[in-house]
Amino acid sequence: MSSARKVLIVEDEVKIAELLADYFVQAGYEPQLLHRGGAVVERVKAAPPDLLLLDVMLPEVDGLSLCRELRHFSEQLPIILVTARVEEIDRLLGLELGADDYICKPFSPREVVARAKAVLRRADHRAQPTPESSGYRGLRVDGEAYHAWLDDVELGLTPVEFRLLMSLLQHPGRVHSRNDLMAAVYLDHRIVTDRTVDTHVKNLRRKLEQARAGAGECIESVYGVGYRLD
Ligand code: CA
Repeated sequence: MSSARKVLIVEDEVKIAELLADYFVQAGYEPQLLHRGGAVVERVKAAPPDLLLLDVMLPEVDGLSLCRELRHFSEQLPIILVTARVEEIDRLLGLELGADDYICKPFSPREVVARAKAVLRRADHRAQPTPESSGYRGLRVDGEAYHAWLDDVELGLTPVEFRLLMSLLQHPGRVHSRNDLMAAVYLDHRIVTDRTVDTHVKNLRRKLEQARAGAGECIESVYGVGYRLD
């Protein structure tokens, strides 16, 4: 029985899908192909892949709707979204779809494989049991299940927000530069702008605030530098 990790490639351009599949085979993975959105959820439920490479523009059901739907029943499935427009990436980030990474077409298949490897490595890392951190100011995190609570209220964080919070929690009081935070939460921070970091922090603050009034202020902006957990 093969122990190769399964990469489900959802891409309606058959030639691109097959080219990617070749590269994944060469890298020792087991690629599986789907060419339309309508079949994805059923397939993932029946046979969860180790990684999902999901094109945004698909027939039947688009990649964004799929990403949202999949996150309802699988928070852990590593998902890489593929978009045809680089300027769309910021918008996608703002939608809080919960994807692990974003790749823009045209891409080099080699780069896609490298990014997939990195996402899988990080998924393996977070699958390691991590003890629940004891409550820092009423915050509690479960690094295994990717859940965070404030005063026992579930915060409902996206994977990026969760990693952002974890980074801040590792060194409370220390100022984290935007670059450091992005390196901690994203694989490819070349695509990420300062504004993107700010957007994630804003969303994280809002969720803290919803759990307890005033709690959002525990993430302090340090002008010109970055952020600090007060
Ligand atoms: Ca497409």
